[in-house]
Amino acid sequence: MIRSHRPQSVVIAGAGVAGLSAALALSRSGIRVTIVERDAVAELSWTRAGVPHFSQPHILLPRGRQALLRRFPDVYAALLRMGALEIDPARKLLGECRPGDEELLALAVRRPLLESALRAAVLAEPEIRVISGQKITGLAGRAGSVPRIEGLRTAAGDMIGGDLVVDALGRTSPVPAWIEALGGRPPQVESFPCGFVYYSRHFRLRPDVDLPDGPWLFGPRGKIGPMTFLMFYGDNRTFAISFCVPTGVRDLRVIRHEAAFMAACRAVPVLREAADPRSAEPISPVMPLGSLQNTFRHYQQDGGPCALGTLPIGDAICHTDPSFSLGLSFALDHAGKLADAITGNPGDGLAQARAYFAAIEPEARERFLMIRNIYAARERKRQGEPLDFTKRSSCYPLFASMGLDAAALMDAEIFRVAVRRFGLLDRLSVFDNDIRLQDRVEELLKDGMEQSPAAA
Ligand SMILES: Cc1cc2nc3c(=O)[nH]c(=O)nc-3n(C[C@H](O)[C@H](O)[C@H](O)COP(=O)(O)OP(=O)(O)OC[C@H]3O[C@@H](n4cnc5c(N)ncnc54)[C@H](O)[C@@H]3O)c2cc1C
Repeated sequence: MIRSHRPQSVVIAGAGVAGLSAALALSRSGIRVTIVERDAVAELSWTRAGVPHFSQPHILLPRGRQALLRRFPDVYAALLRMGALEIDPARKLLGECRPGDEELLALAVRRPLLESALRAAVLAEPEIRVISGQKITGLAGRAGSVPRIEGLRTAAGDMIGGDLVVDALGRTSPVPAWIEALGGRPPQVESFPCGFVYYSRHFRLRPDVDLPDGPWLFGPRGKIGPMTFLMFYGDNRTFAISFCVPTGVRDLRVIRHEAAFMAACRAVPVLREAADPRSAEPISPVMPLGSLQNTFRHYQQDGGPCALGTLPIGDAICHTDPSFSLGLSFALDHAGKLADAITGNPGDGLAQARAYFAAIEPEARERFLMIRNIYAARERKRQGEPLDFTKRSSCYPLFASMGLDAAALMDAEIFRVAVRRFGLLDRLSVFDNDIRLQDRVEELLKDGMEQSPAAA
């Protein structure tokens, strides 16, 4: 247990969205921060070796937008100045808006732009020490069955010490293996594949052309044969289209070629209109990304952390299917809750760890399990089981995703609950425990919808 009255010093491993926002939240709470990153931490870069999905389309869900707005209003304002776009689904509400609806907004912003606004804020904080261009190669500390971490080792042979090491190394973080190398029991890892390859392309609208609008919450999505398509609004009159191609359907990987990608766009009316050369010009090649997993790492075992002096945030603790778009919001949320746990338990590392995990784990866990249940239901459907997403008794995971999504635009109350659930504003229990609202969803869907326009 650490007990001291000097300001705590924290070393953050990784300057992605989680690491940058943790650096800001901690530094602004009076904590001494050093952040170590393998890539350059310049103000804006459009490519990154350390983050393979850097250029893939991203949306910041309402929860992440709220976290940014409340914790870092200066960064939020900078993003709007840089061209980020507020997406207001409440425009589609049936009936009058009411207080609280302002929380329903999402933010359309390409990931490099979001990161560059966070980087600029970090670089402007005099108390944050930024070490960039340094690959971290391991943890330093006292070995044991529960190792005590005291710092990081870098490829240059340096040891960078601190009272706490924050693991913000993303979805492939090697920290579990580094804990094991110090004699500890590595976190138990639960993981299952997403089962698709993501192919995306960015576009910019031509002058006088508007983004498409229609019956969806945050953007168009749906099915085309075995593929799922998604469209993301972006900053500065950009948008992106992604196709999720099931890993088993190898022929469809032809979509990596621009001609095939554009042909797939032409097969879906809303994409055909948006990607028409008279409406928009492509501003990126087709970008594939595979080997995607849903992963949850249990850093607490038998009631205690598996190592002292280190805490994971963002993707390092849990990452999920990108089509659910949860990662940025969780990263921003974890950063704030880490700062709260540290400042709320000054000098007591164990209490900080307990407070932090209690604040973030249940929610990350329930979303991970929700996705696992949706995957299991989809698999049963693929195997030919006649599951009906319009009836909760037939298949609750599909009912609470596809069914709720399909009913959202038919009723204002359901709309709010759906945006709050998919936008990560509410815990799952809000809809899961509301039998009256579930009855209402069933009623609205009972006329028989063959297929949801926007399967979650
Ligand atoms: C295809 C795809 C689409 C997505 N779309 C969305 C979306 O629409 N909305 C959403 O909210 N989320 C989305 N996500 C999830 C989101 O991108 C992640 O949740 C987010 O990147 C997590 O940030 P992070 O900081 O935890 O990790 P990362 O962004 O991976 O950052 C890790 C950092 O650690 C650095 N690093 C790694 N190893 C080392 C080392 N050894 N030494 C030094 N530095 C190192 C890396 O360079 C990087 O800077 C998507 C993910 C994918 C894969």
